[in-house]
Amino acid sequence: MLEVQELQSAYGRILALKGVSLRVETGEITALVGGNGAGKTTLLRCLSGVQSVSAGRVKFHGEDITAWPPHRRVAAGIAQSPEGRQVFGPLSVEDNLRLGAFRRARVETEESLERAFEMFPILKEKRALAAAGLSGGQQQMLAIGRALMSRPRLLLLDEPSMGLAPVLVEQILDAVVALKRDGVTVLLVEQNASAALAIADRGYVIETGRIAHHGSGVALLHDPAVRAAYLGL
Ligand code: ATP
Repeated sequence: MLEVQELQSAYGRILALKGVSLRVETGEITALVGGNGAGKTTLLRCLSGVQSVSAGRVKFHGEDITAWPPHRRVAAGIAQSPEGRQVFGPLSVEDNLRLGAFRRARVETEESLERAFEMFPILKEKRALAAAGLSGGQQQMLAIGRALMSRPRLLLLDEPSMGLAPVLVEQILDAVVALKRDGVTVLLVEQNASAALAIADRGYVIETGRIAHHGSGVALLHDPAVRAAYLGL
């Protein structure tokens, strides 16, 4: 579904991505793990089109989308749930969700809203409340729900477990597995490497802007170098 070829991206003179290549296969969960500042967020921002690329290519279903603006990528089926949730605090939960569907017809929006509420029933309970009043876990559910409102084929999830208690991390990752069952392809970026690799079909480890290891999720979980560097084992 997605093919990233030798991607480079810089902030001024700092090269944050130094030639990253990876693939995301249709129907799979692909995990991208790595430490602080390794380049995970930068890569996702390049994929959603909000960060400029200085070399390399991104292909989506075989088409070169490297120069496409973000809205065109959303229309093609790519949606991002950003790091730090970034929900619109003063707006209601429901309005946050509806914003995720701003490009879509009304009937479709209502359907997607019901699906988001089915996936995260707490959002239905709190639909009329300001998003700022939600707990961290609920805001994360809202950010994912909002990304799903555009009915993406590919969902880019940036650190959904960040700052959450273990029980909520489990709930969020269960939701990611449920999305896969629903046919959504997921690129999951996580610092919580063991949890992410455990649910991933395929995984990539990024170190200072380069892919250092890749393989199936299970293989990476058992790789001694990955275990020592990222899993604290
Ligand atoms: P984290 O998990 O901490 O978010 P990350 O793997 O997502 O880390 P990035 O945020 O992509 O890493 O950062 C990659 C590199 O780019 C780091 O060296 C970081 O300091 C640098 N960087 C990120 N954002 C900026 C920015 N706005 N200006 C300058 N440098 C930046």
